[in-house]
Amino acid sequence: MYVDLHCHSTASDGTLSPSEVVRLAKDNGLSAIALTDHDTIAGVAEAALTAQEMGIDFLAGIEISAEFPQPGTLHILGYGIDPHSPILRDLTTTLLAGRDNRNPKIVQKLNDLGVTITMAEVEAEAGGLVIGRPHIAAVLLRKGYVSSIKQAFDKYLAQGAPAYFDKERLTPRQAIDLICQSGGVAVLAHPIQLRTENDAQLERVVKDLVDLGLAGIEVLHSDHDDAAAAKYRSLAVKYNLLQTGGSDFHGGNKPKITLGRAGANRIPRELYESLLAKIA
Ligand SMILES: [Zn+2]
Ligand SMILES: [Zn+2]
Repeated sequence: MYVDLHCHSTASDGTLSPSEVVRLAKDNGLSAIALTDHDTIAGVAEAALTAQEMGIDFLAGIEISAEFPQPGTLHILGYGIDPHSPILRDLTTTLLAGRDNRNPKIVQKLNDLGVTITMAEVEAEAGGLVIGRPHIAAVLLRKGYVSSIKQAFDKYLAQGAPAYFDKERLTPRQAIDLICQSGGVAVLAHPIQLRTENDAQLERVVKDLVDLGLAGIEVLHSDHDDAAAAKYRSLAVKYNLLQTGGSDFHGGNKPKITLGRAGANRIPRELYESLLAKIA
């Protein structure tokens, strides 16, 4: 029995709706799924309903970006959060507003680079959904400025590229507090993306997060090979942390990632069970 504890829908930057993600999970033979959209739980209610209809277990989740020195990124997954938590609602509203402020700045930078696109075109592309860089990339592709979505990111939109504009982030403490105060469990997502220089630095980061209330590490992930997974597993054991796993599925926005697969591995249901035990 297999699960997937990390995936994205159109509520953030995935290409499938929350219910389509759940249906695909069922088609791929998964017995449980957690939806973890960036900075929002807007897709959770729809996904939960579909999961109930499909007869698969569902866990509400979120993925929050926290401040971290470049070139690394620090993402914290929150599981089992109460979707009605007022703290969470206020905060996700603020984070989404931050994202809304960021997009016009990206468009302005593109204009400065001689790329003629407008916010109206980006909004039309998003069709009322949360606007993100994938929508800007789609406009660039449609207008012939790039030949693929990937090229749009490489050439303009990725971190470090000329039209990149960072969004405002929470501190790691704020992100973990928010998750805990909303009744959830905080898990370090894809530690490989911290891009720490060595194992000692990685361990320091983990230890600091544990002191702030971190309860788990994402051991299995599409970016982790077996050696990386083994390293994160031993850190989880050493600090008495939960081990989780997920694909980080984004639909067509990251076509190499398959729902229910973390690279070469599938994600055993035991990881879901132990997470659930920690939440209850
Ligand atoms: Zn992430
Ligand atoms: Zn993710």
